[in-house]
Amino acid sequence: MSFESEMAGYWVFVGFIGLVWMYWWLIKLLKKKVRRTQSANQAATPAPAMLSEAELERYSRHIILKEIGGAGQKKLKEAKVLVVGVGGLGAPALQYLAAAGCGTIGLIDEDVVEHSNLQRQVIHMDKHLGMPKVFSAQTLLQEQNPFISLRPYHRRFDHTCAPLIEEYDLILDCSDNSQTRYLLNQLCFDYQKPLIGAALSSWEGQISCFHLEENAPCYECIFPKAIQTGSSQAGEEFSCSQIGIASPITGVLGSMMALEAVKIIVGVGAPLSSQMLIYNGLHGTVLQVKTKKDAACSSCAAL
Ligand SMILES: [Zn+2]
Repeated sequence: MSFESEMAGYWVFVGFIGLVWMYWWLIKLLKKKVRRTQSANQAATPAPAMLSEAELERYSRHIILKEIGGAGQKKLKEAKVLVVGVGGLGAPALQYLAAAGCGTIGLIDEDVVEHSNLQRQVIHMDKHLGMPKVFSAQTLLQEQNPFISLRPYHRRFDHTCAPLIEEYDLILDCSDNSQTRYLLNQLCFDYQKPLIGAALSSWEGQISCFHLEENAPCYECIFPKAIQTGSSQAGEEFSCSQIGIASPITGVLGSMMALEAVKIIVGVGAPLSSQMLIYNGLHGTVLQVKTKKDAACSSCAAL
């Protein structure tokens, strides 16, 4: 082979290597560009809630339910629920919301744990006597589920709490007085936030959901203020301390509230909108009554 042909072969080889290198460099450049675009997109839109391996295992019995699945569990993780009242209804409602994986839970109550609470408010322990209920509940809930975020508000619920209603996706009325119930109903109507309400009496409890549909009744449609005030002399209310209450009835209704919350957050089943379910524990009866919007309601009627 002549020297010229050897040199020609050498330059063909060098040219080939050069082409391969250029091709590799071009691919690398393109990949870098794609990665940069992806991270820019991720920064522009909030990342959907991701479930860790531990959470997938923890919520596996939810995830295998066809009505919830992984998508529903992520909705629960993203949900922000405010529970007003950490007593008989609030205790079981909070425990099941936390166990179910509700991502952010606000709890508001001005009271401290007393001896007479422990017969039914199962979220509070004997060692927590004298402690504000919101902190006592926070301790137990965080131990139950370290994957959720808890926001305790040690204060009375009043009209200055309106920004809280705006902040949360769903509200549970676990209060024990009509003043708070009417205020919650009005604020949830104003901010168009779903409200789950329940009430207890001795052996009986009732539950309903409000502000889920435009033509469904609100709390005041069913319990007009004038009638409530007229039937309870000087605004006096019957409370657990006056008429007593069977301990487990709080668990039944509080758990029902948590169940309605899960249904509303995930978007499955038929929430108790325009329906009131009344459970009598003494006789083991369940009554479901249809409720109607009051055209003259001072809370939700069209102006
Ligand atoms: Zn109304």
